Amino acid sequence: MTKKVLVLAETREGSLRNVSFEAIAAGKKIADGGEVVGVLIGEGVAGIANELIAYGADRVVTVEHPHLKTYTSDGFSQAFMAVVDQESPEAIVFGHTSLGKDLSPKIASKLQSGLISDVTEIEGAGDDAVFIRPIYSGKAFEKVKIKDGIVFVTIRPNNIAPLEKDGGRSGDVAAVSVDITNLRTIIKEVVRKSTEGVDLSEAKVVVAGGRGVKSEEGFEPLKELANLLGGAVGASRGACDAEYCDYSLQIGQTGKVVTPDLYIAAGISGAIQHLAGMSNSKVIVAINKDPEANIFKVADYGIVGDLFEVVPMLIEEFKALKV
Ligand code: FAD
Repeated sequence: MTKKVLVLAETREGSLRNVSFEAIAAGKKIADGGEVVGVLIGEGVAGIANELIAYGADRVVTVEHPHLKTYTSDGFSQAFMAVVDQESPEAIVFGHTSLGKDLSPKIASKLQSGLISDVTEIEGAGDDAVFIRPIYSGKAFEKVKIKDGIVFVTIRPNNIAPLEKDGGRSGDVAAVSVDITNLRTIIKEVVRKSTEGVDLSEAKVVVAGGRGVKSEEGFEPLKELANLLGGAVGASRGACDAEYCDYSLQIGQTGKVVTPDLYIAAGISGAIQHLAGMSNSKVIVAINKDPEANIFKVADYGIVGDLFEVVPMLIEEFKALKV
């Protein structure tokens, strides 16, 4: 049976995040020929609705309100539930992002539905869709199927490929008006940390440093390598705890989960909690001076050596390749 699927789109600084397009591709599989409706919540977001249609949404519903300018779970849940009431979807897809992880359980409890979180792959389509998700910190995968009721999933960024953009597609864009009330939190101002370059959770290349980097300055060559490869810098908790870098860079069980095409781990031992955040990367390169380091067990390429010698060599080689 075909399904009507609501897909929550996410924006950052006025632009749609890539995970929104991946969520539409996931929605298409679940819809199995049914309708995929993009949902855009915020203030002044209607202008980007057509991009969702270009990436495969059949139409878009917007909810705009001054209280929705920045995310709060109270505000966004009222907005999203207003769309649910209007559309009566059979399935819902969110990104497994900070926002998606916060909002999805709240919506699931309001709908009294189940929730399949952190989906990395969808086999089959429609009623036969099987959702694959990592368990035991990525050591195993389980396959989940919904027997009845609303299909509600969050998808891990960088795993389900978006559909090709087609600027010639057209679809309806309509607004739902909601009175956002009873907010327990009002965001007055967002003070951003000065994060340079590419968003870590969506980066195609991640260069991560661990306690072996030894200091804040030790991260400079890693930043240079990441910039050269168009990627982002990440870190182990060991490096964050030692105050070599900010916790926003932490990758792992209690940090960010990343699945880039290339993950370079420098001076990271490969503790299970770190592997939980990066072991599904497509190609893993580990640099460690200890040949017995656990990280080599998950690495596709291992370099036994001092990172302060190896990373500058890589920088020189990549610079030479770009000439
Ligand atoms: P270390 O284990 O100290 O390893 C440093 C490595 O650098 C060593 O292998 C060493 O051989 C190598 N090295 C040293 N000098 C050099 C050099 N010059 N060149 C090359 N190699 C060098 N950790 C995370 O990363 N993410 C998490 O989300 C996370 N969550 C956790 C949650 C819980 C509940 C707990 C208990 C722990 C968690 N941890 C997490 C911590 C985790 O267990 C490890 O302590 C941590 O990952 C170790 O960081 P590290 O590999 O940088 O440091």
